[in-house]
Amino acid sequence: MIQLIKGFKDVLPGEIEVWQTVERAAKETFENFGFQEIRLPIVEKSELFSRSIGDTTDIVEKEMYTFEDGKRGHVTLRPEATASVVRSYIQHKMYAQDPIRKFYTIGPMFRRERPQKGRYRQFYQIDAEVFGVDSPYLDAQLIFMLATLLERLKAKDVKAHINSLGCPCCRPNFQKALKELLDSKKEHLCENCLRRSEKNPLRVLDCKVPSCREAVKEAPSILDHLCDECRDHFETVKRVLTENGVDYEVDKNLVRGLDYYTRTAFEVLTTSLGAQNAVAGGGRYDGLVKALGGPEIPAIGFAIGFDRLAEIVAMQQTIEATGPTLYIAPLGEKATEAAAHWTMQLAARGISCETDFGGRSLKNHMKRADKLKATHVLMIGDDELEKGQATLRNMTTREQEDLSLDGLVETLAERLK
Ligand code: AMP
Repeated sequence: MIQLIKGFKDVLPGEIEVWQTVERAAKETFENFGFQEIRLPIVEKSELFSRSIGDTTDIVEKEMYTFEDGKRGHVTLRPEATASVVRSYIQHKMYAQDPIRKFYTIGPMFRRERPQKGRYRQFYQIDAEVFGVDSPYLDAQLIFMLATLLERLKAKDVKAHINSLGCPCCRPNFQKALKELLDSKKEHLCENCLRRSEKNPLRVLDCKVPSCREAVKEAPSILDHLCDECRDHFETVKRVLTENGVDYEVDKNLVRGLDYYTRTAFEVLTTSLGAQNAVAGGGRYDGLVKALGGPEIPAIGFAIGFDRLAEIVAMQQTIEATGPTLYIAPLGEKATEAAAHWTMQLAARGISCETDFGGRSLKNHMKRADKLKATHVLMIGDDELEKGQATLRNMTTREQEDLSLDGLVETLAERLK
């Protein structure tokens, strides 16, 4: 038997109801905040990701699913959505019409990471991006929107962690100070971090290896190196979050895995999922639109790990599939044909309706209706068909009533709406 590939998974009925609930809540919340949905390809030119995410990141160095596609050269299954959203914004010159745009997109991402609980090679993200606004009010609004979604989903044990990564004007000072500390701690750093401390020292702050974590405990704080503009920006973000009741924590070592962040960076962490505790991450990336060939337009966004959020929601509440509104239980060949007709007509009128063509006994029909969790059952035998009537049973109250077959579809459509 052919099995699915490790790190990939099926989302089946039983689990999908939670996914649908999360997706509906995300769409509704984002639309309340003025976002529009966009859908983008899963495959892009590899260069898009290496240029935007950064050559020294784990994603680009070792996790991308890249293959050669004839004349098109190397293409990659997208490891994240931001690069594609930015590419699309620039390619369609959306800024010409109105530079301020708010988008969300939901779909699969691919990273060749070591699979484990909560970490997959194909996972899903709910992604939101805003272009054309550099105000700190927007940063706070975006984090507030994320908190609102989590609240609507009744997700507990989640908290926003925020930091500022400065800008190209103040970050180099911090990088220098950090590099000095890292040089003095070389013997404690893992091989990756030794390399990172040369190419991109900030990334060492992100390392999960215990000795590296210990080494960076004494790291200088980027917050002490911010320029006046970046400091004011961060102060406003914090103030607006507090004023609007968002529970957050400042984490000076939060750097995020991708190269393109500036100023506000944030993550939502949970205590419910064990090692893979990041539910969402994002931040401002004011330089990326320009770096990818567009005009100088600021931007900010975040991505929620859909799989992880769905897991949290499933742990904290029961969301079950609802059964059909009506199950038609026909007895006899003629009644079965009538049931087929009524089922189609009612479903077409928006009443979820089921029947069974297998010639079951009434007892078996009732068992099936129970299993499907039907709220009503219509019983009809060949005799009743002759008499021109059928029996409708309410499965909750157990009340029954006889209905005339004349105009039955309309009667049921009206009654069960
Ligand atoms: P990132 O794009 O790395 O900032 O990730 C944003 C969010 O996506 C994370 O906070 C996770 O919730 C989720 N995520 C990232 N990588 C994976 C993965 N391999 N499997 C499941 N979820 C992931």
